[in-house]
Amino acid sequence: MNYSSEENPKFRSENNKKDIEMEDLNEDIERQELTPHYRRLTFIQSNGCDFCTHVTKPGPYMHYISIETKNGWLSCGEEECKRRGRQAVEDFMAHQAYGRANHLKNRESINVKRTSGQMDNDWVLERSYPEVQVDNNGVEKVCVTKPSACIEKWVSIDNLLLWNEV
Ligand SMILES: [Zn+2]
Repeated sequence: MNYSSEENPKFRSENNKKDIEMEDLNEDIERQELTPHYRRLTFIQSNGCDFCTHVTKPGPYMHYISIETKNGWLSCGEEECKRRGRQAVEDFMAHQAYGRANHLKNRESINVKRTSGQMDNDWVLERSYPEVQVDNNGVEKVCVTKPSACIEKWVSIDNLLLWNEV
C-alpha cells in the first residue's frame, strides 16, 4: 500500500496547476528530508531511534500518528530525539494528514454523498485514520465518519474535494 503522496505522480501533476499549492508541496518535501517517513510500530525489535544513530539513552518512545494504525516514529530517550518525534507527528497532522483534504481536518461538518445519492453535511475526517490510502485502482482515499450515527466510510479525495468546494 502506498501512503506517500510524494511518490504519486498524479498528486504531483495536479499540484503543478496551482503555484500556491506547489509551494506548500515543496515545503513538505524539504521537511521530509529532515524527518524520515513514518513507519508501522507494531513489531519493534530493538531500541532503534528514527532521529539519531548513536543511541545512548534508553527507549523506545513511540510517537504515533494514530494508535489505531500504529504508524509513527520511534525515538530514544534523548530530549532532542523525543522533541523531534513529537514535532514529526505535529508536522504530519498539520501538512500531510488526509493528503489533499488536509484543509478539511478541523471542520466540524463536511459534506459526504451517501450511497443513496443524498448529500449529508454532518461528517468529519476520521481522526483514527489520518493516512491516505491508495486503492487497487490508484485512487487516493480517506476515512470519514458521521459521529451522530457511528458510521464511517472510505471516500475518494477527489470526490470529497468536489463535495466541499466552498
Ligand atoms: Zn535518538
